Amino acid sequence: MTTDFKSLTVAIDGPSGAGKSTVAKLAAELAGLVYVDTGALYRTVGLYMLEHGVSANDPEAVAARLPEVEIELSYEDGKQVVSLCGEPVGDRIRTEEASLCASAVSQIPAVREFLLEMQKDLARKGGVIMDGRDIGTVIMPDADVKIFYTATARTRAERRFREQREKGMDVTFEEVLAAIEERDRQDMERELAPLKPAEDSIVFYNDPFSIEACSAWLLGVLTRAAWEKARK
Ligand code: C5P
Repeated sequence: MTTDFKSLTVAIDGPSGAGKSTVAKLAAELAGLVYVDTGALYRTVGLYMLEHGVSANDPEAVAARLPEVEIELSYEDGKQVVSLCGEPVGDRIRTEEASLCASAVSQIPAVREFLLEMQKDLARKGGVIMDGRDIGTVIMPDADVKIFYTATARTRAERRFREQREKGMDVTFEEVLAAIEERDRQDMERELAPLKPAEDSIVFYNDPFSIEACSAWLLGVLTRAAWEKARK
């Protein structure tokens, strides 16, 4: 008998820059699960507002435009493709400006409500690894596996600083650290669906570990969960 991961639901939450998506994608591929990047959904709403000149910091204006935002999720070669009004968003959602808009719109109740059903629907299908900020607390409170995947702000800033310098960006370590701390503060202090570990989640600080070590660890956790589920 082989290990059957197919029915598992896996929630991975954590702060920005912890490497959630890298490890979740790898584990999803190894275990044959569908990877859902929920941050991309908030980024897509943010992008729509940005491209239509709507201030992401104006909750009423954003809420009024939500009915125009048509988001579709599909998969190409196992990779998540998000489309906005029929057009794949690609890397347009990854710019610094789009990140700031995503962060701002994610604090608006109407936006969270707007994206709730889509995420719950994906969760109901099972066989998923979903990452975000409120997956274990709001979207999949009954997930088989809940992980709070994190690293200290300093480690996350060191990793991002290296990446940005490699891309030739002119930034200082202090600037990168300050931006990370600001995003953490916004995510953790917001009233609605704040970033926090679910009571029953495994909190994992990945500071000293390589991506390979972390995905091996995650696969071990999934194997145990699949085994326990099969015994029930
Ligand atoms: O994970 P990522 O950095 O792509 O998320 C983009 C933004 O969306 C973040 O600012 C985060 O606060 C927000 N977000 C959220 N809830 C989620 C996923 C992301 O509020 N489940």
